[in-house]
Amino acid sequence: MKVARIAVVRGDGIANEVMPEAEETLKAAAEAASFPVDFEYFDWGSDRYLEQGRGMPEDGCDTLRAGFEAVFQGAIGDPRVPGSIVQEEVILGVRFGLDLYANIRPCRLYHEDLTPLKNKGAGEVDHVVVRENTEGLFVNVGGFFKQGTKDEVALQEEVHTYKGVERVIRASFDFARRHKRQKVTMADKASGLRYAGGIWRRVFDEVRADFEDIESEAKHIDAVAMEVIQHPGEFDVIVTNNMFGDILSDVTSGLVGGLGLAPSANVNLEGVSMFEPVHGTAPDIYGRGIANPMAAILTGALLLDHLGCGEGGAAIRRAVEEAIAHGERTADLGGKLTTKECGDAVRNRLK
Ligand code: ATP
Repeated sequence: MKVARIAVVRGDGIANEVMPEAEETLKAAAEAASFPVDFEYFDWGSDRYLEQGRGMPEDGCDTLRAGFEAVFQGAIGDPRVPGSIVQEEVILGVRFGLDLYANIRPCRLYHEDLTPLKNKGAGEVDHVVVRENTEGLFVNVGGFFKQGTKDEVALQEEVHTYKGVERVIRASFDFARRHKRQKVTMADKASGLRYAGGIWRRVFDEVRADFEDIESEAKHIDAVAMEVIQHPGEFDVIVTNNMFGDILSDVTSGLVGGLGLAPSANVNLEGVSMFEPVHGTAPDIYGRGIANPMAAILTGALLLDHLGCGEGGAAIRRAVEEAIAHGERTADLGGKLTTKECGDAVRNRLK
């Protein structure tokens, strides 16, 4: 069987603590599923920036495209480098360099005591937010007029292209089909935003015609934001634009235990995709060995799913769920385990 080549960018801060646990867990699950993987390590991040003046080499994305099936990346950023220059170089460099247009964030409840919702047990919140990752309000087209006066005007334009909308909607249906999910909800604000809503509705209708096996609906984002809290079980895959997705994915992560459990994938279905936990470098706890490795571990599960090793991904999710149920948790989830002990606990349950 062909060996899947994975580029690992460990990153900064707690990423140095959680990523080794995630790598080891991914390897163990892949091995158990007879799915050979091989890691190559890249030193991209703040230490490299401080030593060499660049967080990653200029041709870094060419290297990724040429030699790897996927990228496994930890958080980037360091208080020794003020501003966000390294994050822009590495995170945005990889996102735009590999054209990672779909940000996929699964939200699954692993235990009833992790949710602020009443009467919801493991698996009773289980949906996926797919956020458009390359355009919308984040293209930074706009400007100031009469800046610094009381008549100042700030313009922030929203950009939606046919290509950008089509590919992210298609990616959400593709994800639904591959993961045997029943329904895709497209969330927009077509009632008030004529042009942005117009293109999203038209393209959604076009794409869903190609996926008749999957139920689909178009809803307004404000209704989705309310209903996802009132009736989380009604949702499966939710696809939305960059701005709405930014907010909605944080809301839904909050329903299932927050950053310590939130994985994400940044996908380009025609190219190389990148997998990273949602959390940052957590300078407030870095160095104490108490960070929760489960978000990174669950990110490894997403990566295995994506490479076609669904058995490995499912085994990891099962092991995490069991570990949490048995109180094998780090402090953020009310437990006492260190990062390393928590990684070991998950791996023991893989066996
Ligand atoms: P950055 O500047 O890299 O974004 P941050 O601290 O602003 O770092 P996060 O790293 O996302 O943002 O952390 C937000 C809060 O959540 C912090 O209090 C942090 O300690 C906590 N946190 C984040 N990730 C984890 C984790 N894996 N385990 C435990 N706590 C975490």
